Amino acid sequence: MYDVLIIGAGGAGLSAALSSKKEGAKVAVLCESYPTRAQTSMAQGGINAALGNVEKDSINLHIEDTLKSSGEIGSKEMISKMCKDAPNTVKWLESIGMPYSRTDEGKIAQRKLGGASSIRACYAQDFTGLKILHTLYDQCLKEDIEFLNEKFLLEFVVQDNLIKGAICLDIRTTETEFIKAKSIIVASGGFSGLYYNFTTNTNQSTGDGIAAALRVGAKLSNMEFVQFHPTGLKKSGILISESARGAGGYLVNEKGERFTDELGPRDRVSRAIFSELENGEVFLDIRHLGEEFIDEHMPQERKLAITYEGIDPVDELIPISPVAHYSMGGICVDENLMSLVEGLFGVGECSESGVHGANRLGGNSLLEILSFGKLAGENSAKFSKSYDYKDAGTKQHDSVKKFIQEIYEYENRENFYENRELLGELFYKKAGIIKEEKALKETLLEVEKMQENYTLMGLGDRSRVYNTNLVEFIKFKNTLTLGKALLVSAIKRKESRGAHFRSDFPNTDENFDHRSFYDEV
Ligand SMILES: Cc1cc2nc3c(=O)[nH]c(=O)nc-3n(C[C@H](O)[C@H](O)[C@H](O)COP(=O)(O)OP(=O)(O)OC[C@H]3O[C@@H](n4cnc5c(N)ncnc54)[C@H](O)[C@@H]3O)c2cc1C
Repeated sequence: MYDVLIIGAGGAGLSAALSSKKEGAKVAVLCESYPTRAQTSMAQGGINAALGNVEKDSINLHIEDTLKSSGEIGSKEMISKMCKDAPNTVKWLESIGMPYSRTDEGKIAQRKLGGASSIRACYAQDFTGLKILHTLYDQCLKEDIEFLNEKFLLEFVVQDNLIKGAICLDIRTTETEFIKAKSIIVASGGFSGLYYNFTTNTNQSTGDGIAAALRVGAKLSNMEFVQFHPTGLKKSGILISESARGAGGYLVNEKGERFTDELGPRDRVSRAIFSELENGEVFLDIRHLGEEFIDEHMPQERKLAITYEGIDPVDELIPISPVAHYSMGGICVDENLMSLVEGLFGVGECSESGVHGANRLGGNSLLEILSFGKLAGENSAKFSKSYDYKDAGTKQHDSVKKFIQEIYEYENRENFYENRELLGELFYKKAGIIKEEKALKETLLEVEKMQENYTLMGLGDRSRVYNTNLVEFIKFKNTLTLGKALLVSAIKRKESRGAHFRSDFPNTDENFDHRSFYDEV
């Protein structure tokens, strides 16, 4: 049995593991893949902290920018907590080996991201997330933290509203396992993978931890707010970071004209591009930055554009399109990062702690996962010491085993992979950058139809060894659960705020100036 079991090995999970271990907890990190493959590794732009290394900045300005970006529905208390801790967090990471890019004076280099009133994002070329993840993982190995790799979270076990452990699928054997724990930190990432083929996210981003938490009584919040990033590569959705515009890149239409403020908030820039796309292609132009600058600061992005778009940004325009990027909503947690279920904590993109509100400021997610990751680790370790564990029995495990067995017996009349693609396109067109009641309701009907037909979309591969078809099928079920939560919440919010834009309610309405909640199972 563990004091602290962490679900997910991204930046949030690994930071939490280090701090709970420091508190003396027996800790393990469970993940469906391997730690260095978490989506955190894809982050390019940077991590915010008001260090003022390049130009004058202050913690108050950071707080103000974050609150403004949140559409005024972020929690001032949580935002202040995170922004005040940012310089410490960035330096803590440096102390364990993070290779930040440097200024000529040897200070941590910083750059400007959209919506920020100062140059604030600390970075490591355009490999910021990758370097963060590797630094944390190295430290976890030094601290001898236990990893349970290739184990897929299925359900949480809860008794009398107290967490008892998690049931997972061993992907290698397809056997299920009940892992007992006195507290659990969900750090399993967001759910923008729902916008399949129209997202910067990986296929792992199906919000499994959020869906499992909902099933055991944790409320979700702000599920209608999904951030679209203005500059995904047109063919693949792969991200070209905001830092390209921060460094002076232009957005231009087919006539070569600039049509918007490139460094406005992501929602505004995405909508401007979306409208412009009706008249033809839109491009990011960074040619004038020069080869030397591009290779120094954006080597990865240049390579991605060459490999996946077939163009070299040094002397060609980059065709782009806005794509789903970040889910602001998730497991609703309190100031201690605990959900409504006792001992079940949530941190990182899977959680809604009040720091992003209706729209996340670029550079604040990496900050949240590290700063609050440490906090979640401390709090869960303390929680686990506060009571004696009583055994939970095997009833819930038996019903999960039965569920897996039943999946093997489902018919395979409909191909769920086709439905997953259909769903991605449907959400992008009808529940994406611009929303409207009729389209949202039509999409909800489609989701409910897919939920009804789930048992007709069984497995094509019925093997018992390393069955990725089984894992993806279960992920698809979670996607449907969260897709419904998104739609129901979006229908209810009859206004426009941050990333949630309703063409039928284009203005902000003070009747909605608060978090929204969702608890339908
Ligand atoms: C391309 C890209 C660029 C970005 N750039 C920036 C940036 O510059 N600055 C910034 O602040 N933010 C950026 N972001 C956002 C930021 O990177 C993420 O929000 C953040 O890294 C999420 O971290 P996390 O630890 O919460 O989740 P993740 O890194 O997504 O990790 C989730 C973990 O959970 C595991 N998991 C998921 N489901 C299960 C399951 N069922 N069972 C077991 N394990 C499971 C995964 O395998 C993974 O280990 C970017 C995002 C993307 C996609």
